[in-house]
Amino acid sequence: MQHKSSITTKILIAMGLGLILGALINQWGADNAFIRDYLVNGLFYVVGAAFVNALKMLVVPLVTFSLIGGVYGIGDVGILGRVGIKTFLLYLATTGMAVTLALLVAIAAAPGQGFERIGALAEFTVAPVPPLAEVLIAIVPGNPVAAFAEGNMLQIIFFVIVFAIAMLMSGDRGRQLAGIADNLNEVMMKVVMLVMDFAPVGVFFLMAKTFSEQGFGLIVPMLGYFVVVIACLLLHGLGTFSLLLYFMAKLNPLVFFRKMRPAHIFAFSTASSNATIPITLQVVEKRLGVGNATAAFTVPLGATINMDGTAIMQGVATVFIANVYGIGLEWSQYLTVIGMSVLASIGTAGVPGVGLIMLAMVFSQVGLPVEGIGLILGVDRLLDMLRTVVNVTGDATVTTIVARSQGQIDDRIFNDPEAGVIGEIRLPHRNC
Ligand code: ASP
Repeated sequence: MQHKSSITTKILIAMGLGLILGALINQWGADNAFIRDYLVNGLFYVVGAAFVNALKMLVVPLVTFSLIGGVYGIGDVGILGRVGIKTFLLYLATTGMAVTLALLVAIAAAPGQGFERIGALAEFTVAPVPPLAEVLIAIVPGNPVAAFAEGNMLQIIFFVIVFAIAMLMSGDRGRQLAGIADNLNEVMMKVVMLVMDFAPVGVFFLMAKTFSEQGFGLIVPMLGYFVVVIACLLLHGLGTFSLLLYFMAKLNPLVFFRKMRPAHIFAFSTASSNATIPITLQVVEKRLGVGNATAAFTVPLGATINMDGTAIMQGVATVFIANVYGIGLEWSQYLTVIGMSVLASIGTAGVPGVGLIMLAMVFSQVGLPVEGIGLILGVDRLLDMLRTVVNVTGDATVTTIVARSQGQIDDRIFNDPEAGVIGEIRLPHRNC
C-alpha cells in the first residue's frame, strides 16, 4: 500500500520543489540569458507543455468511451433527462452562489478603494464574444468529426448521448458496441496511468516555469484584490461545498477533500479543468465511489459549464475595478454580474486564462472599463491556478450530489481510504 500511494506524494513533492526552484530563479536568475533561454523557455517549457499535451490527449477518447458506457448503463432516456436537468441546475446554482458570495464579501471589504495606479496598464485585448443564441446553437455539432478534432466538449457530449441512445434502441448490436466501448474505456484508464507515471516530472517543470515568471512582487500592490479573491475561494471551496456535501450528498467533507487531492494537484499545476478531466474522473469513480453512469456525464459537463472559482474572481474583480475607477454600481448591475457570470461559464471551456475573457463579457455588460482588466492581468496566473482547484472541486461536489440522488454512490468505496489510490503501474514485458 505504501508503494501504491507513493505517486501522489511524489507529485506533491515535485510540485513543491518546482515552486521553490521557480521562485529562486525569479528572484536571482531572471536576468541570466542562459537560464531564461535554455532553462525557463527551454527545458521547463518543453517538458511542462508536453506533459499538459499528454493530459489533453487523454480527454476526448476517455470522455467518449466512458460516456457511451455511462449513457448505455443508465439505459432509460427518462432517467437520463432527469440526471441532465438536475446536474445542469445544480451547476448553475452553485456558480450563482459563488458569485453572490464574492460580491457580498468584496462589497464589505471594498478592495481597490484609494488604489494608486502606477505605470501603464498591461495590454488586454478583448476577444469577440459570441451572443448567447450562437452558444446555444453551437451545442449541436454540425460536424461531429470536427467536434472531436477540436475537442469541443459540449458538442462531443451532445453527439455521444444521441449515439448511445441510438445504441440502446439497436438491441444486440448496441449491446456489442457497449461491450467494446467498455473495453476501450478500461484500456484508456491504463493510458491515464501511464501518463500519471510521468506526472512528477511534468508537474515539477510546470511549476518551475510558472513561478520563475510569476514573481510574488507583482502581488504586493494588488494585495487587497488578491486576498479577497483567496478568502472567497476558501469560503466557497471549504464552506459552501462542505455544507452541500454533508446535507445533500450525505458524505463526510473531510474524507472528500482528502481523496480529491490528486485532482487538486493537477488543477493547480495545469490551471485547466479540461486537462484535469482524466484525473477528476478517476478520483470521482475509483476513490469517491460514484458510478460511471453519473460521473461520465457530470464530470466533462462540469469542466465546461461549471466554474465557481472563476465566478468568484469575476465578482471580486467587478467590485475592485469599480472602486479603482470610482464607479458606483447599482443593485441591478450586481444582478447583471451574477447572471452574466453564470451564463458566460456555459459556453466557455475550462482552459487557462479563460476567466479573463468571461470577465470582459461581464464588464461590457455592466459598463465597466474593459481595459481595467489589464490591472489584474499580472496576478491572474496564480489566481487562475487556485480558482481552477475550486472549479474542479465544484464539479466533483455536484457529481456526488447527483450520484447520491440516483443511488449511484458506493459508500464502501468512499469510506475505504485505500480505494482507487493512484499507484504506479508496471509495464508488461514480453519475452520474444
Ligand atoms: N482556468 C480555469 C479552468 O480551467 C478557467 C479560468 O478561470 O480561467 O477551470
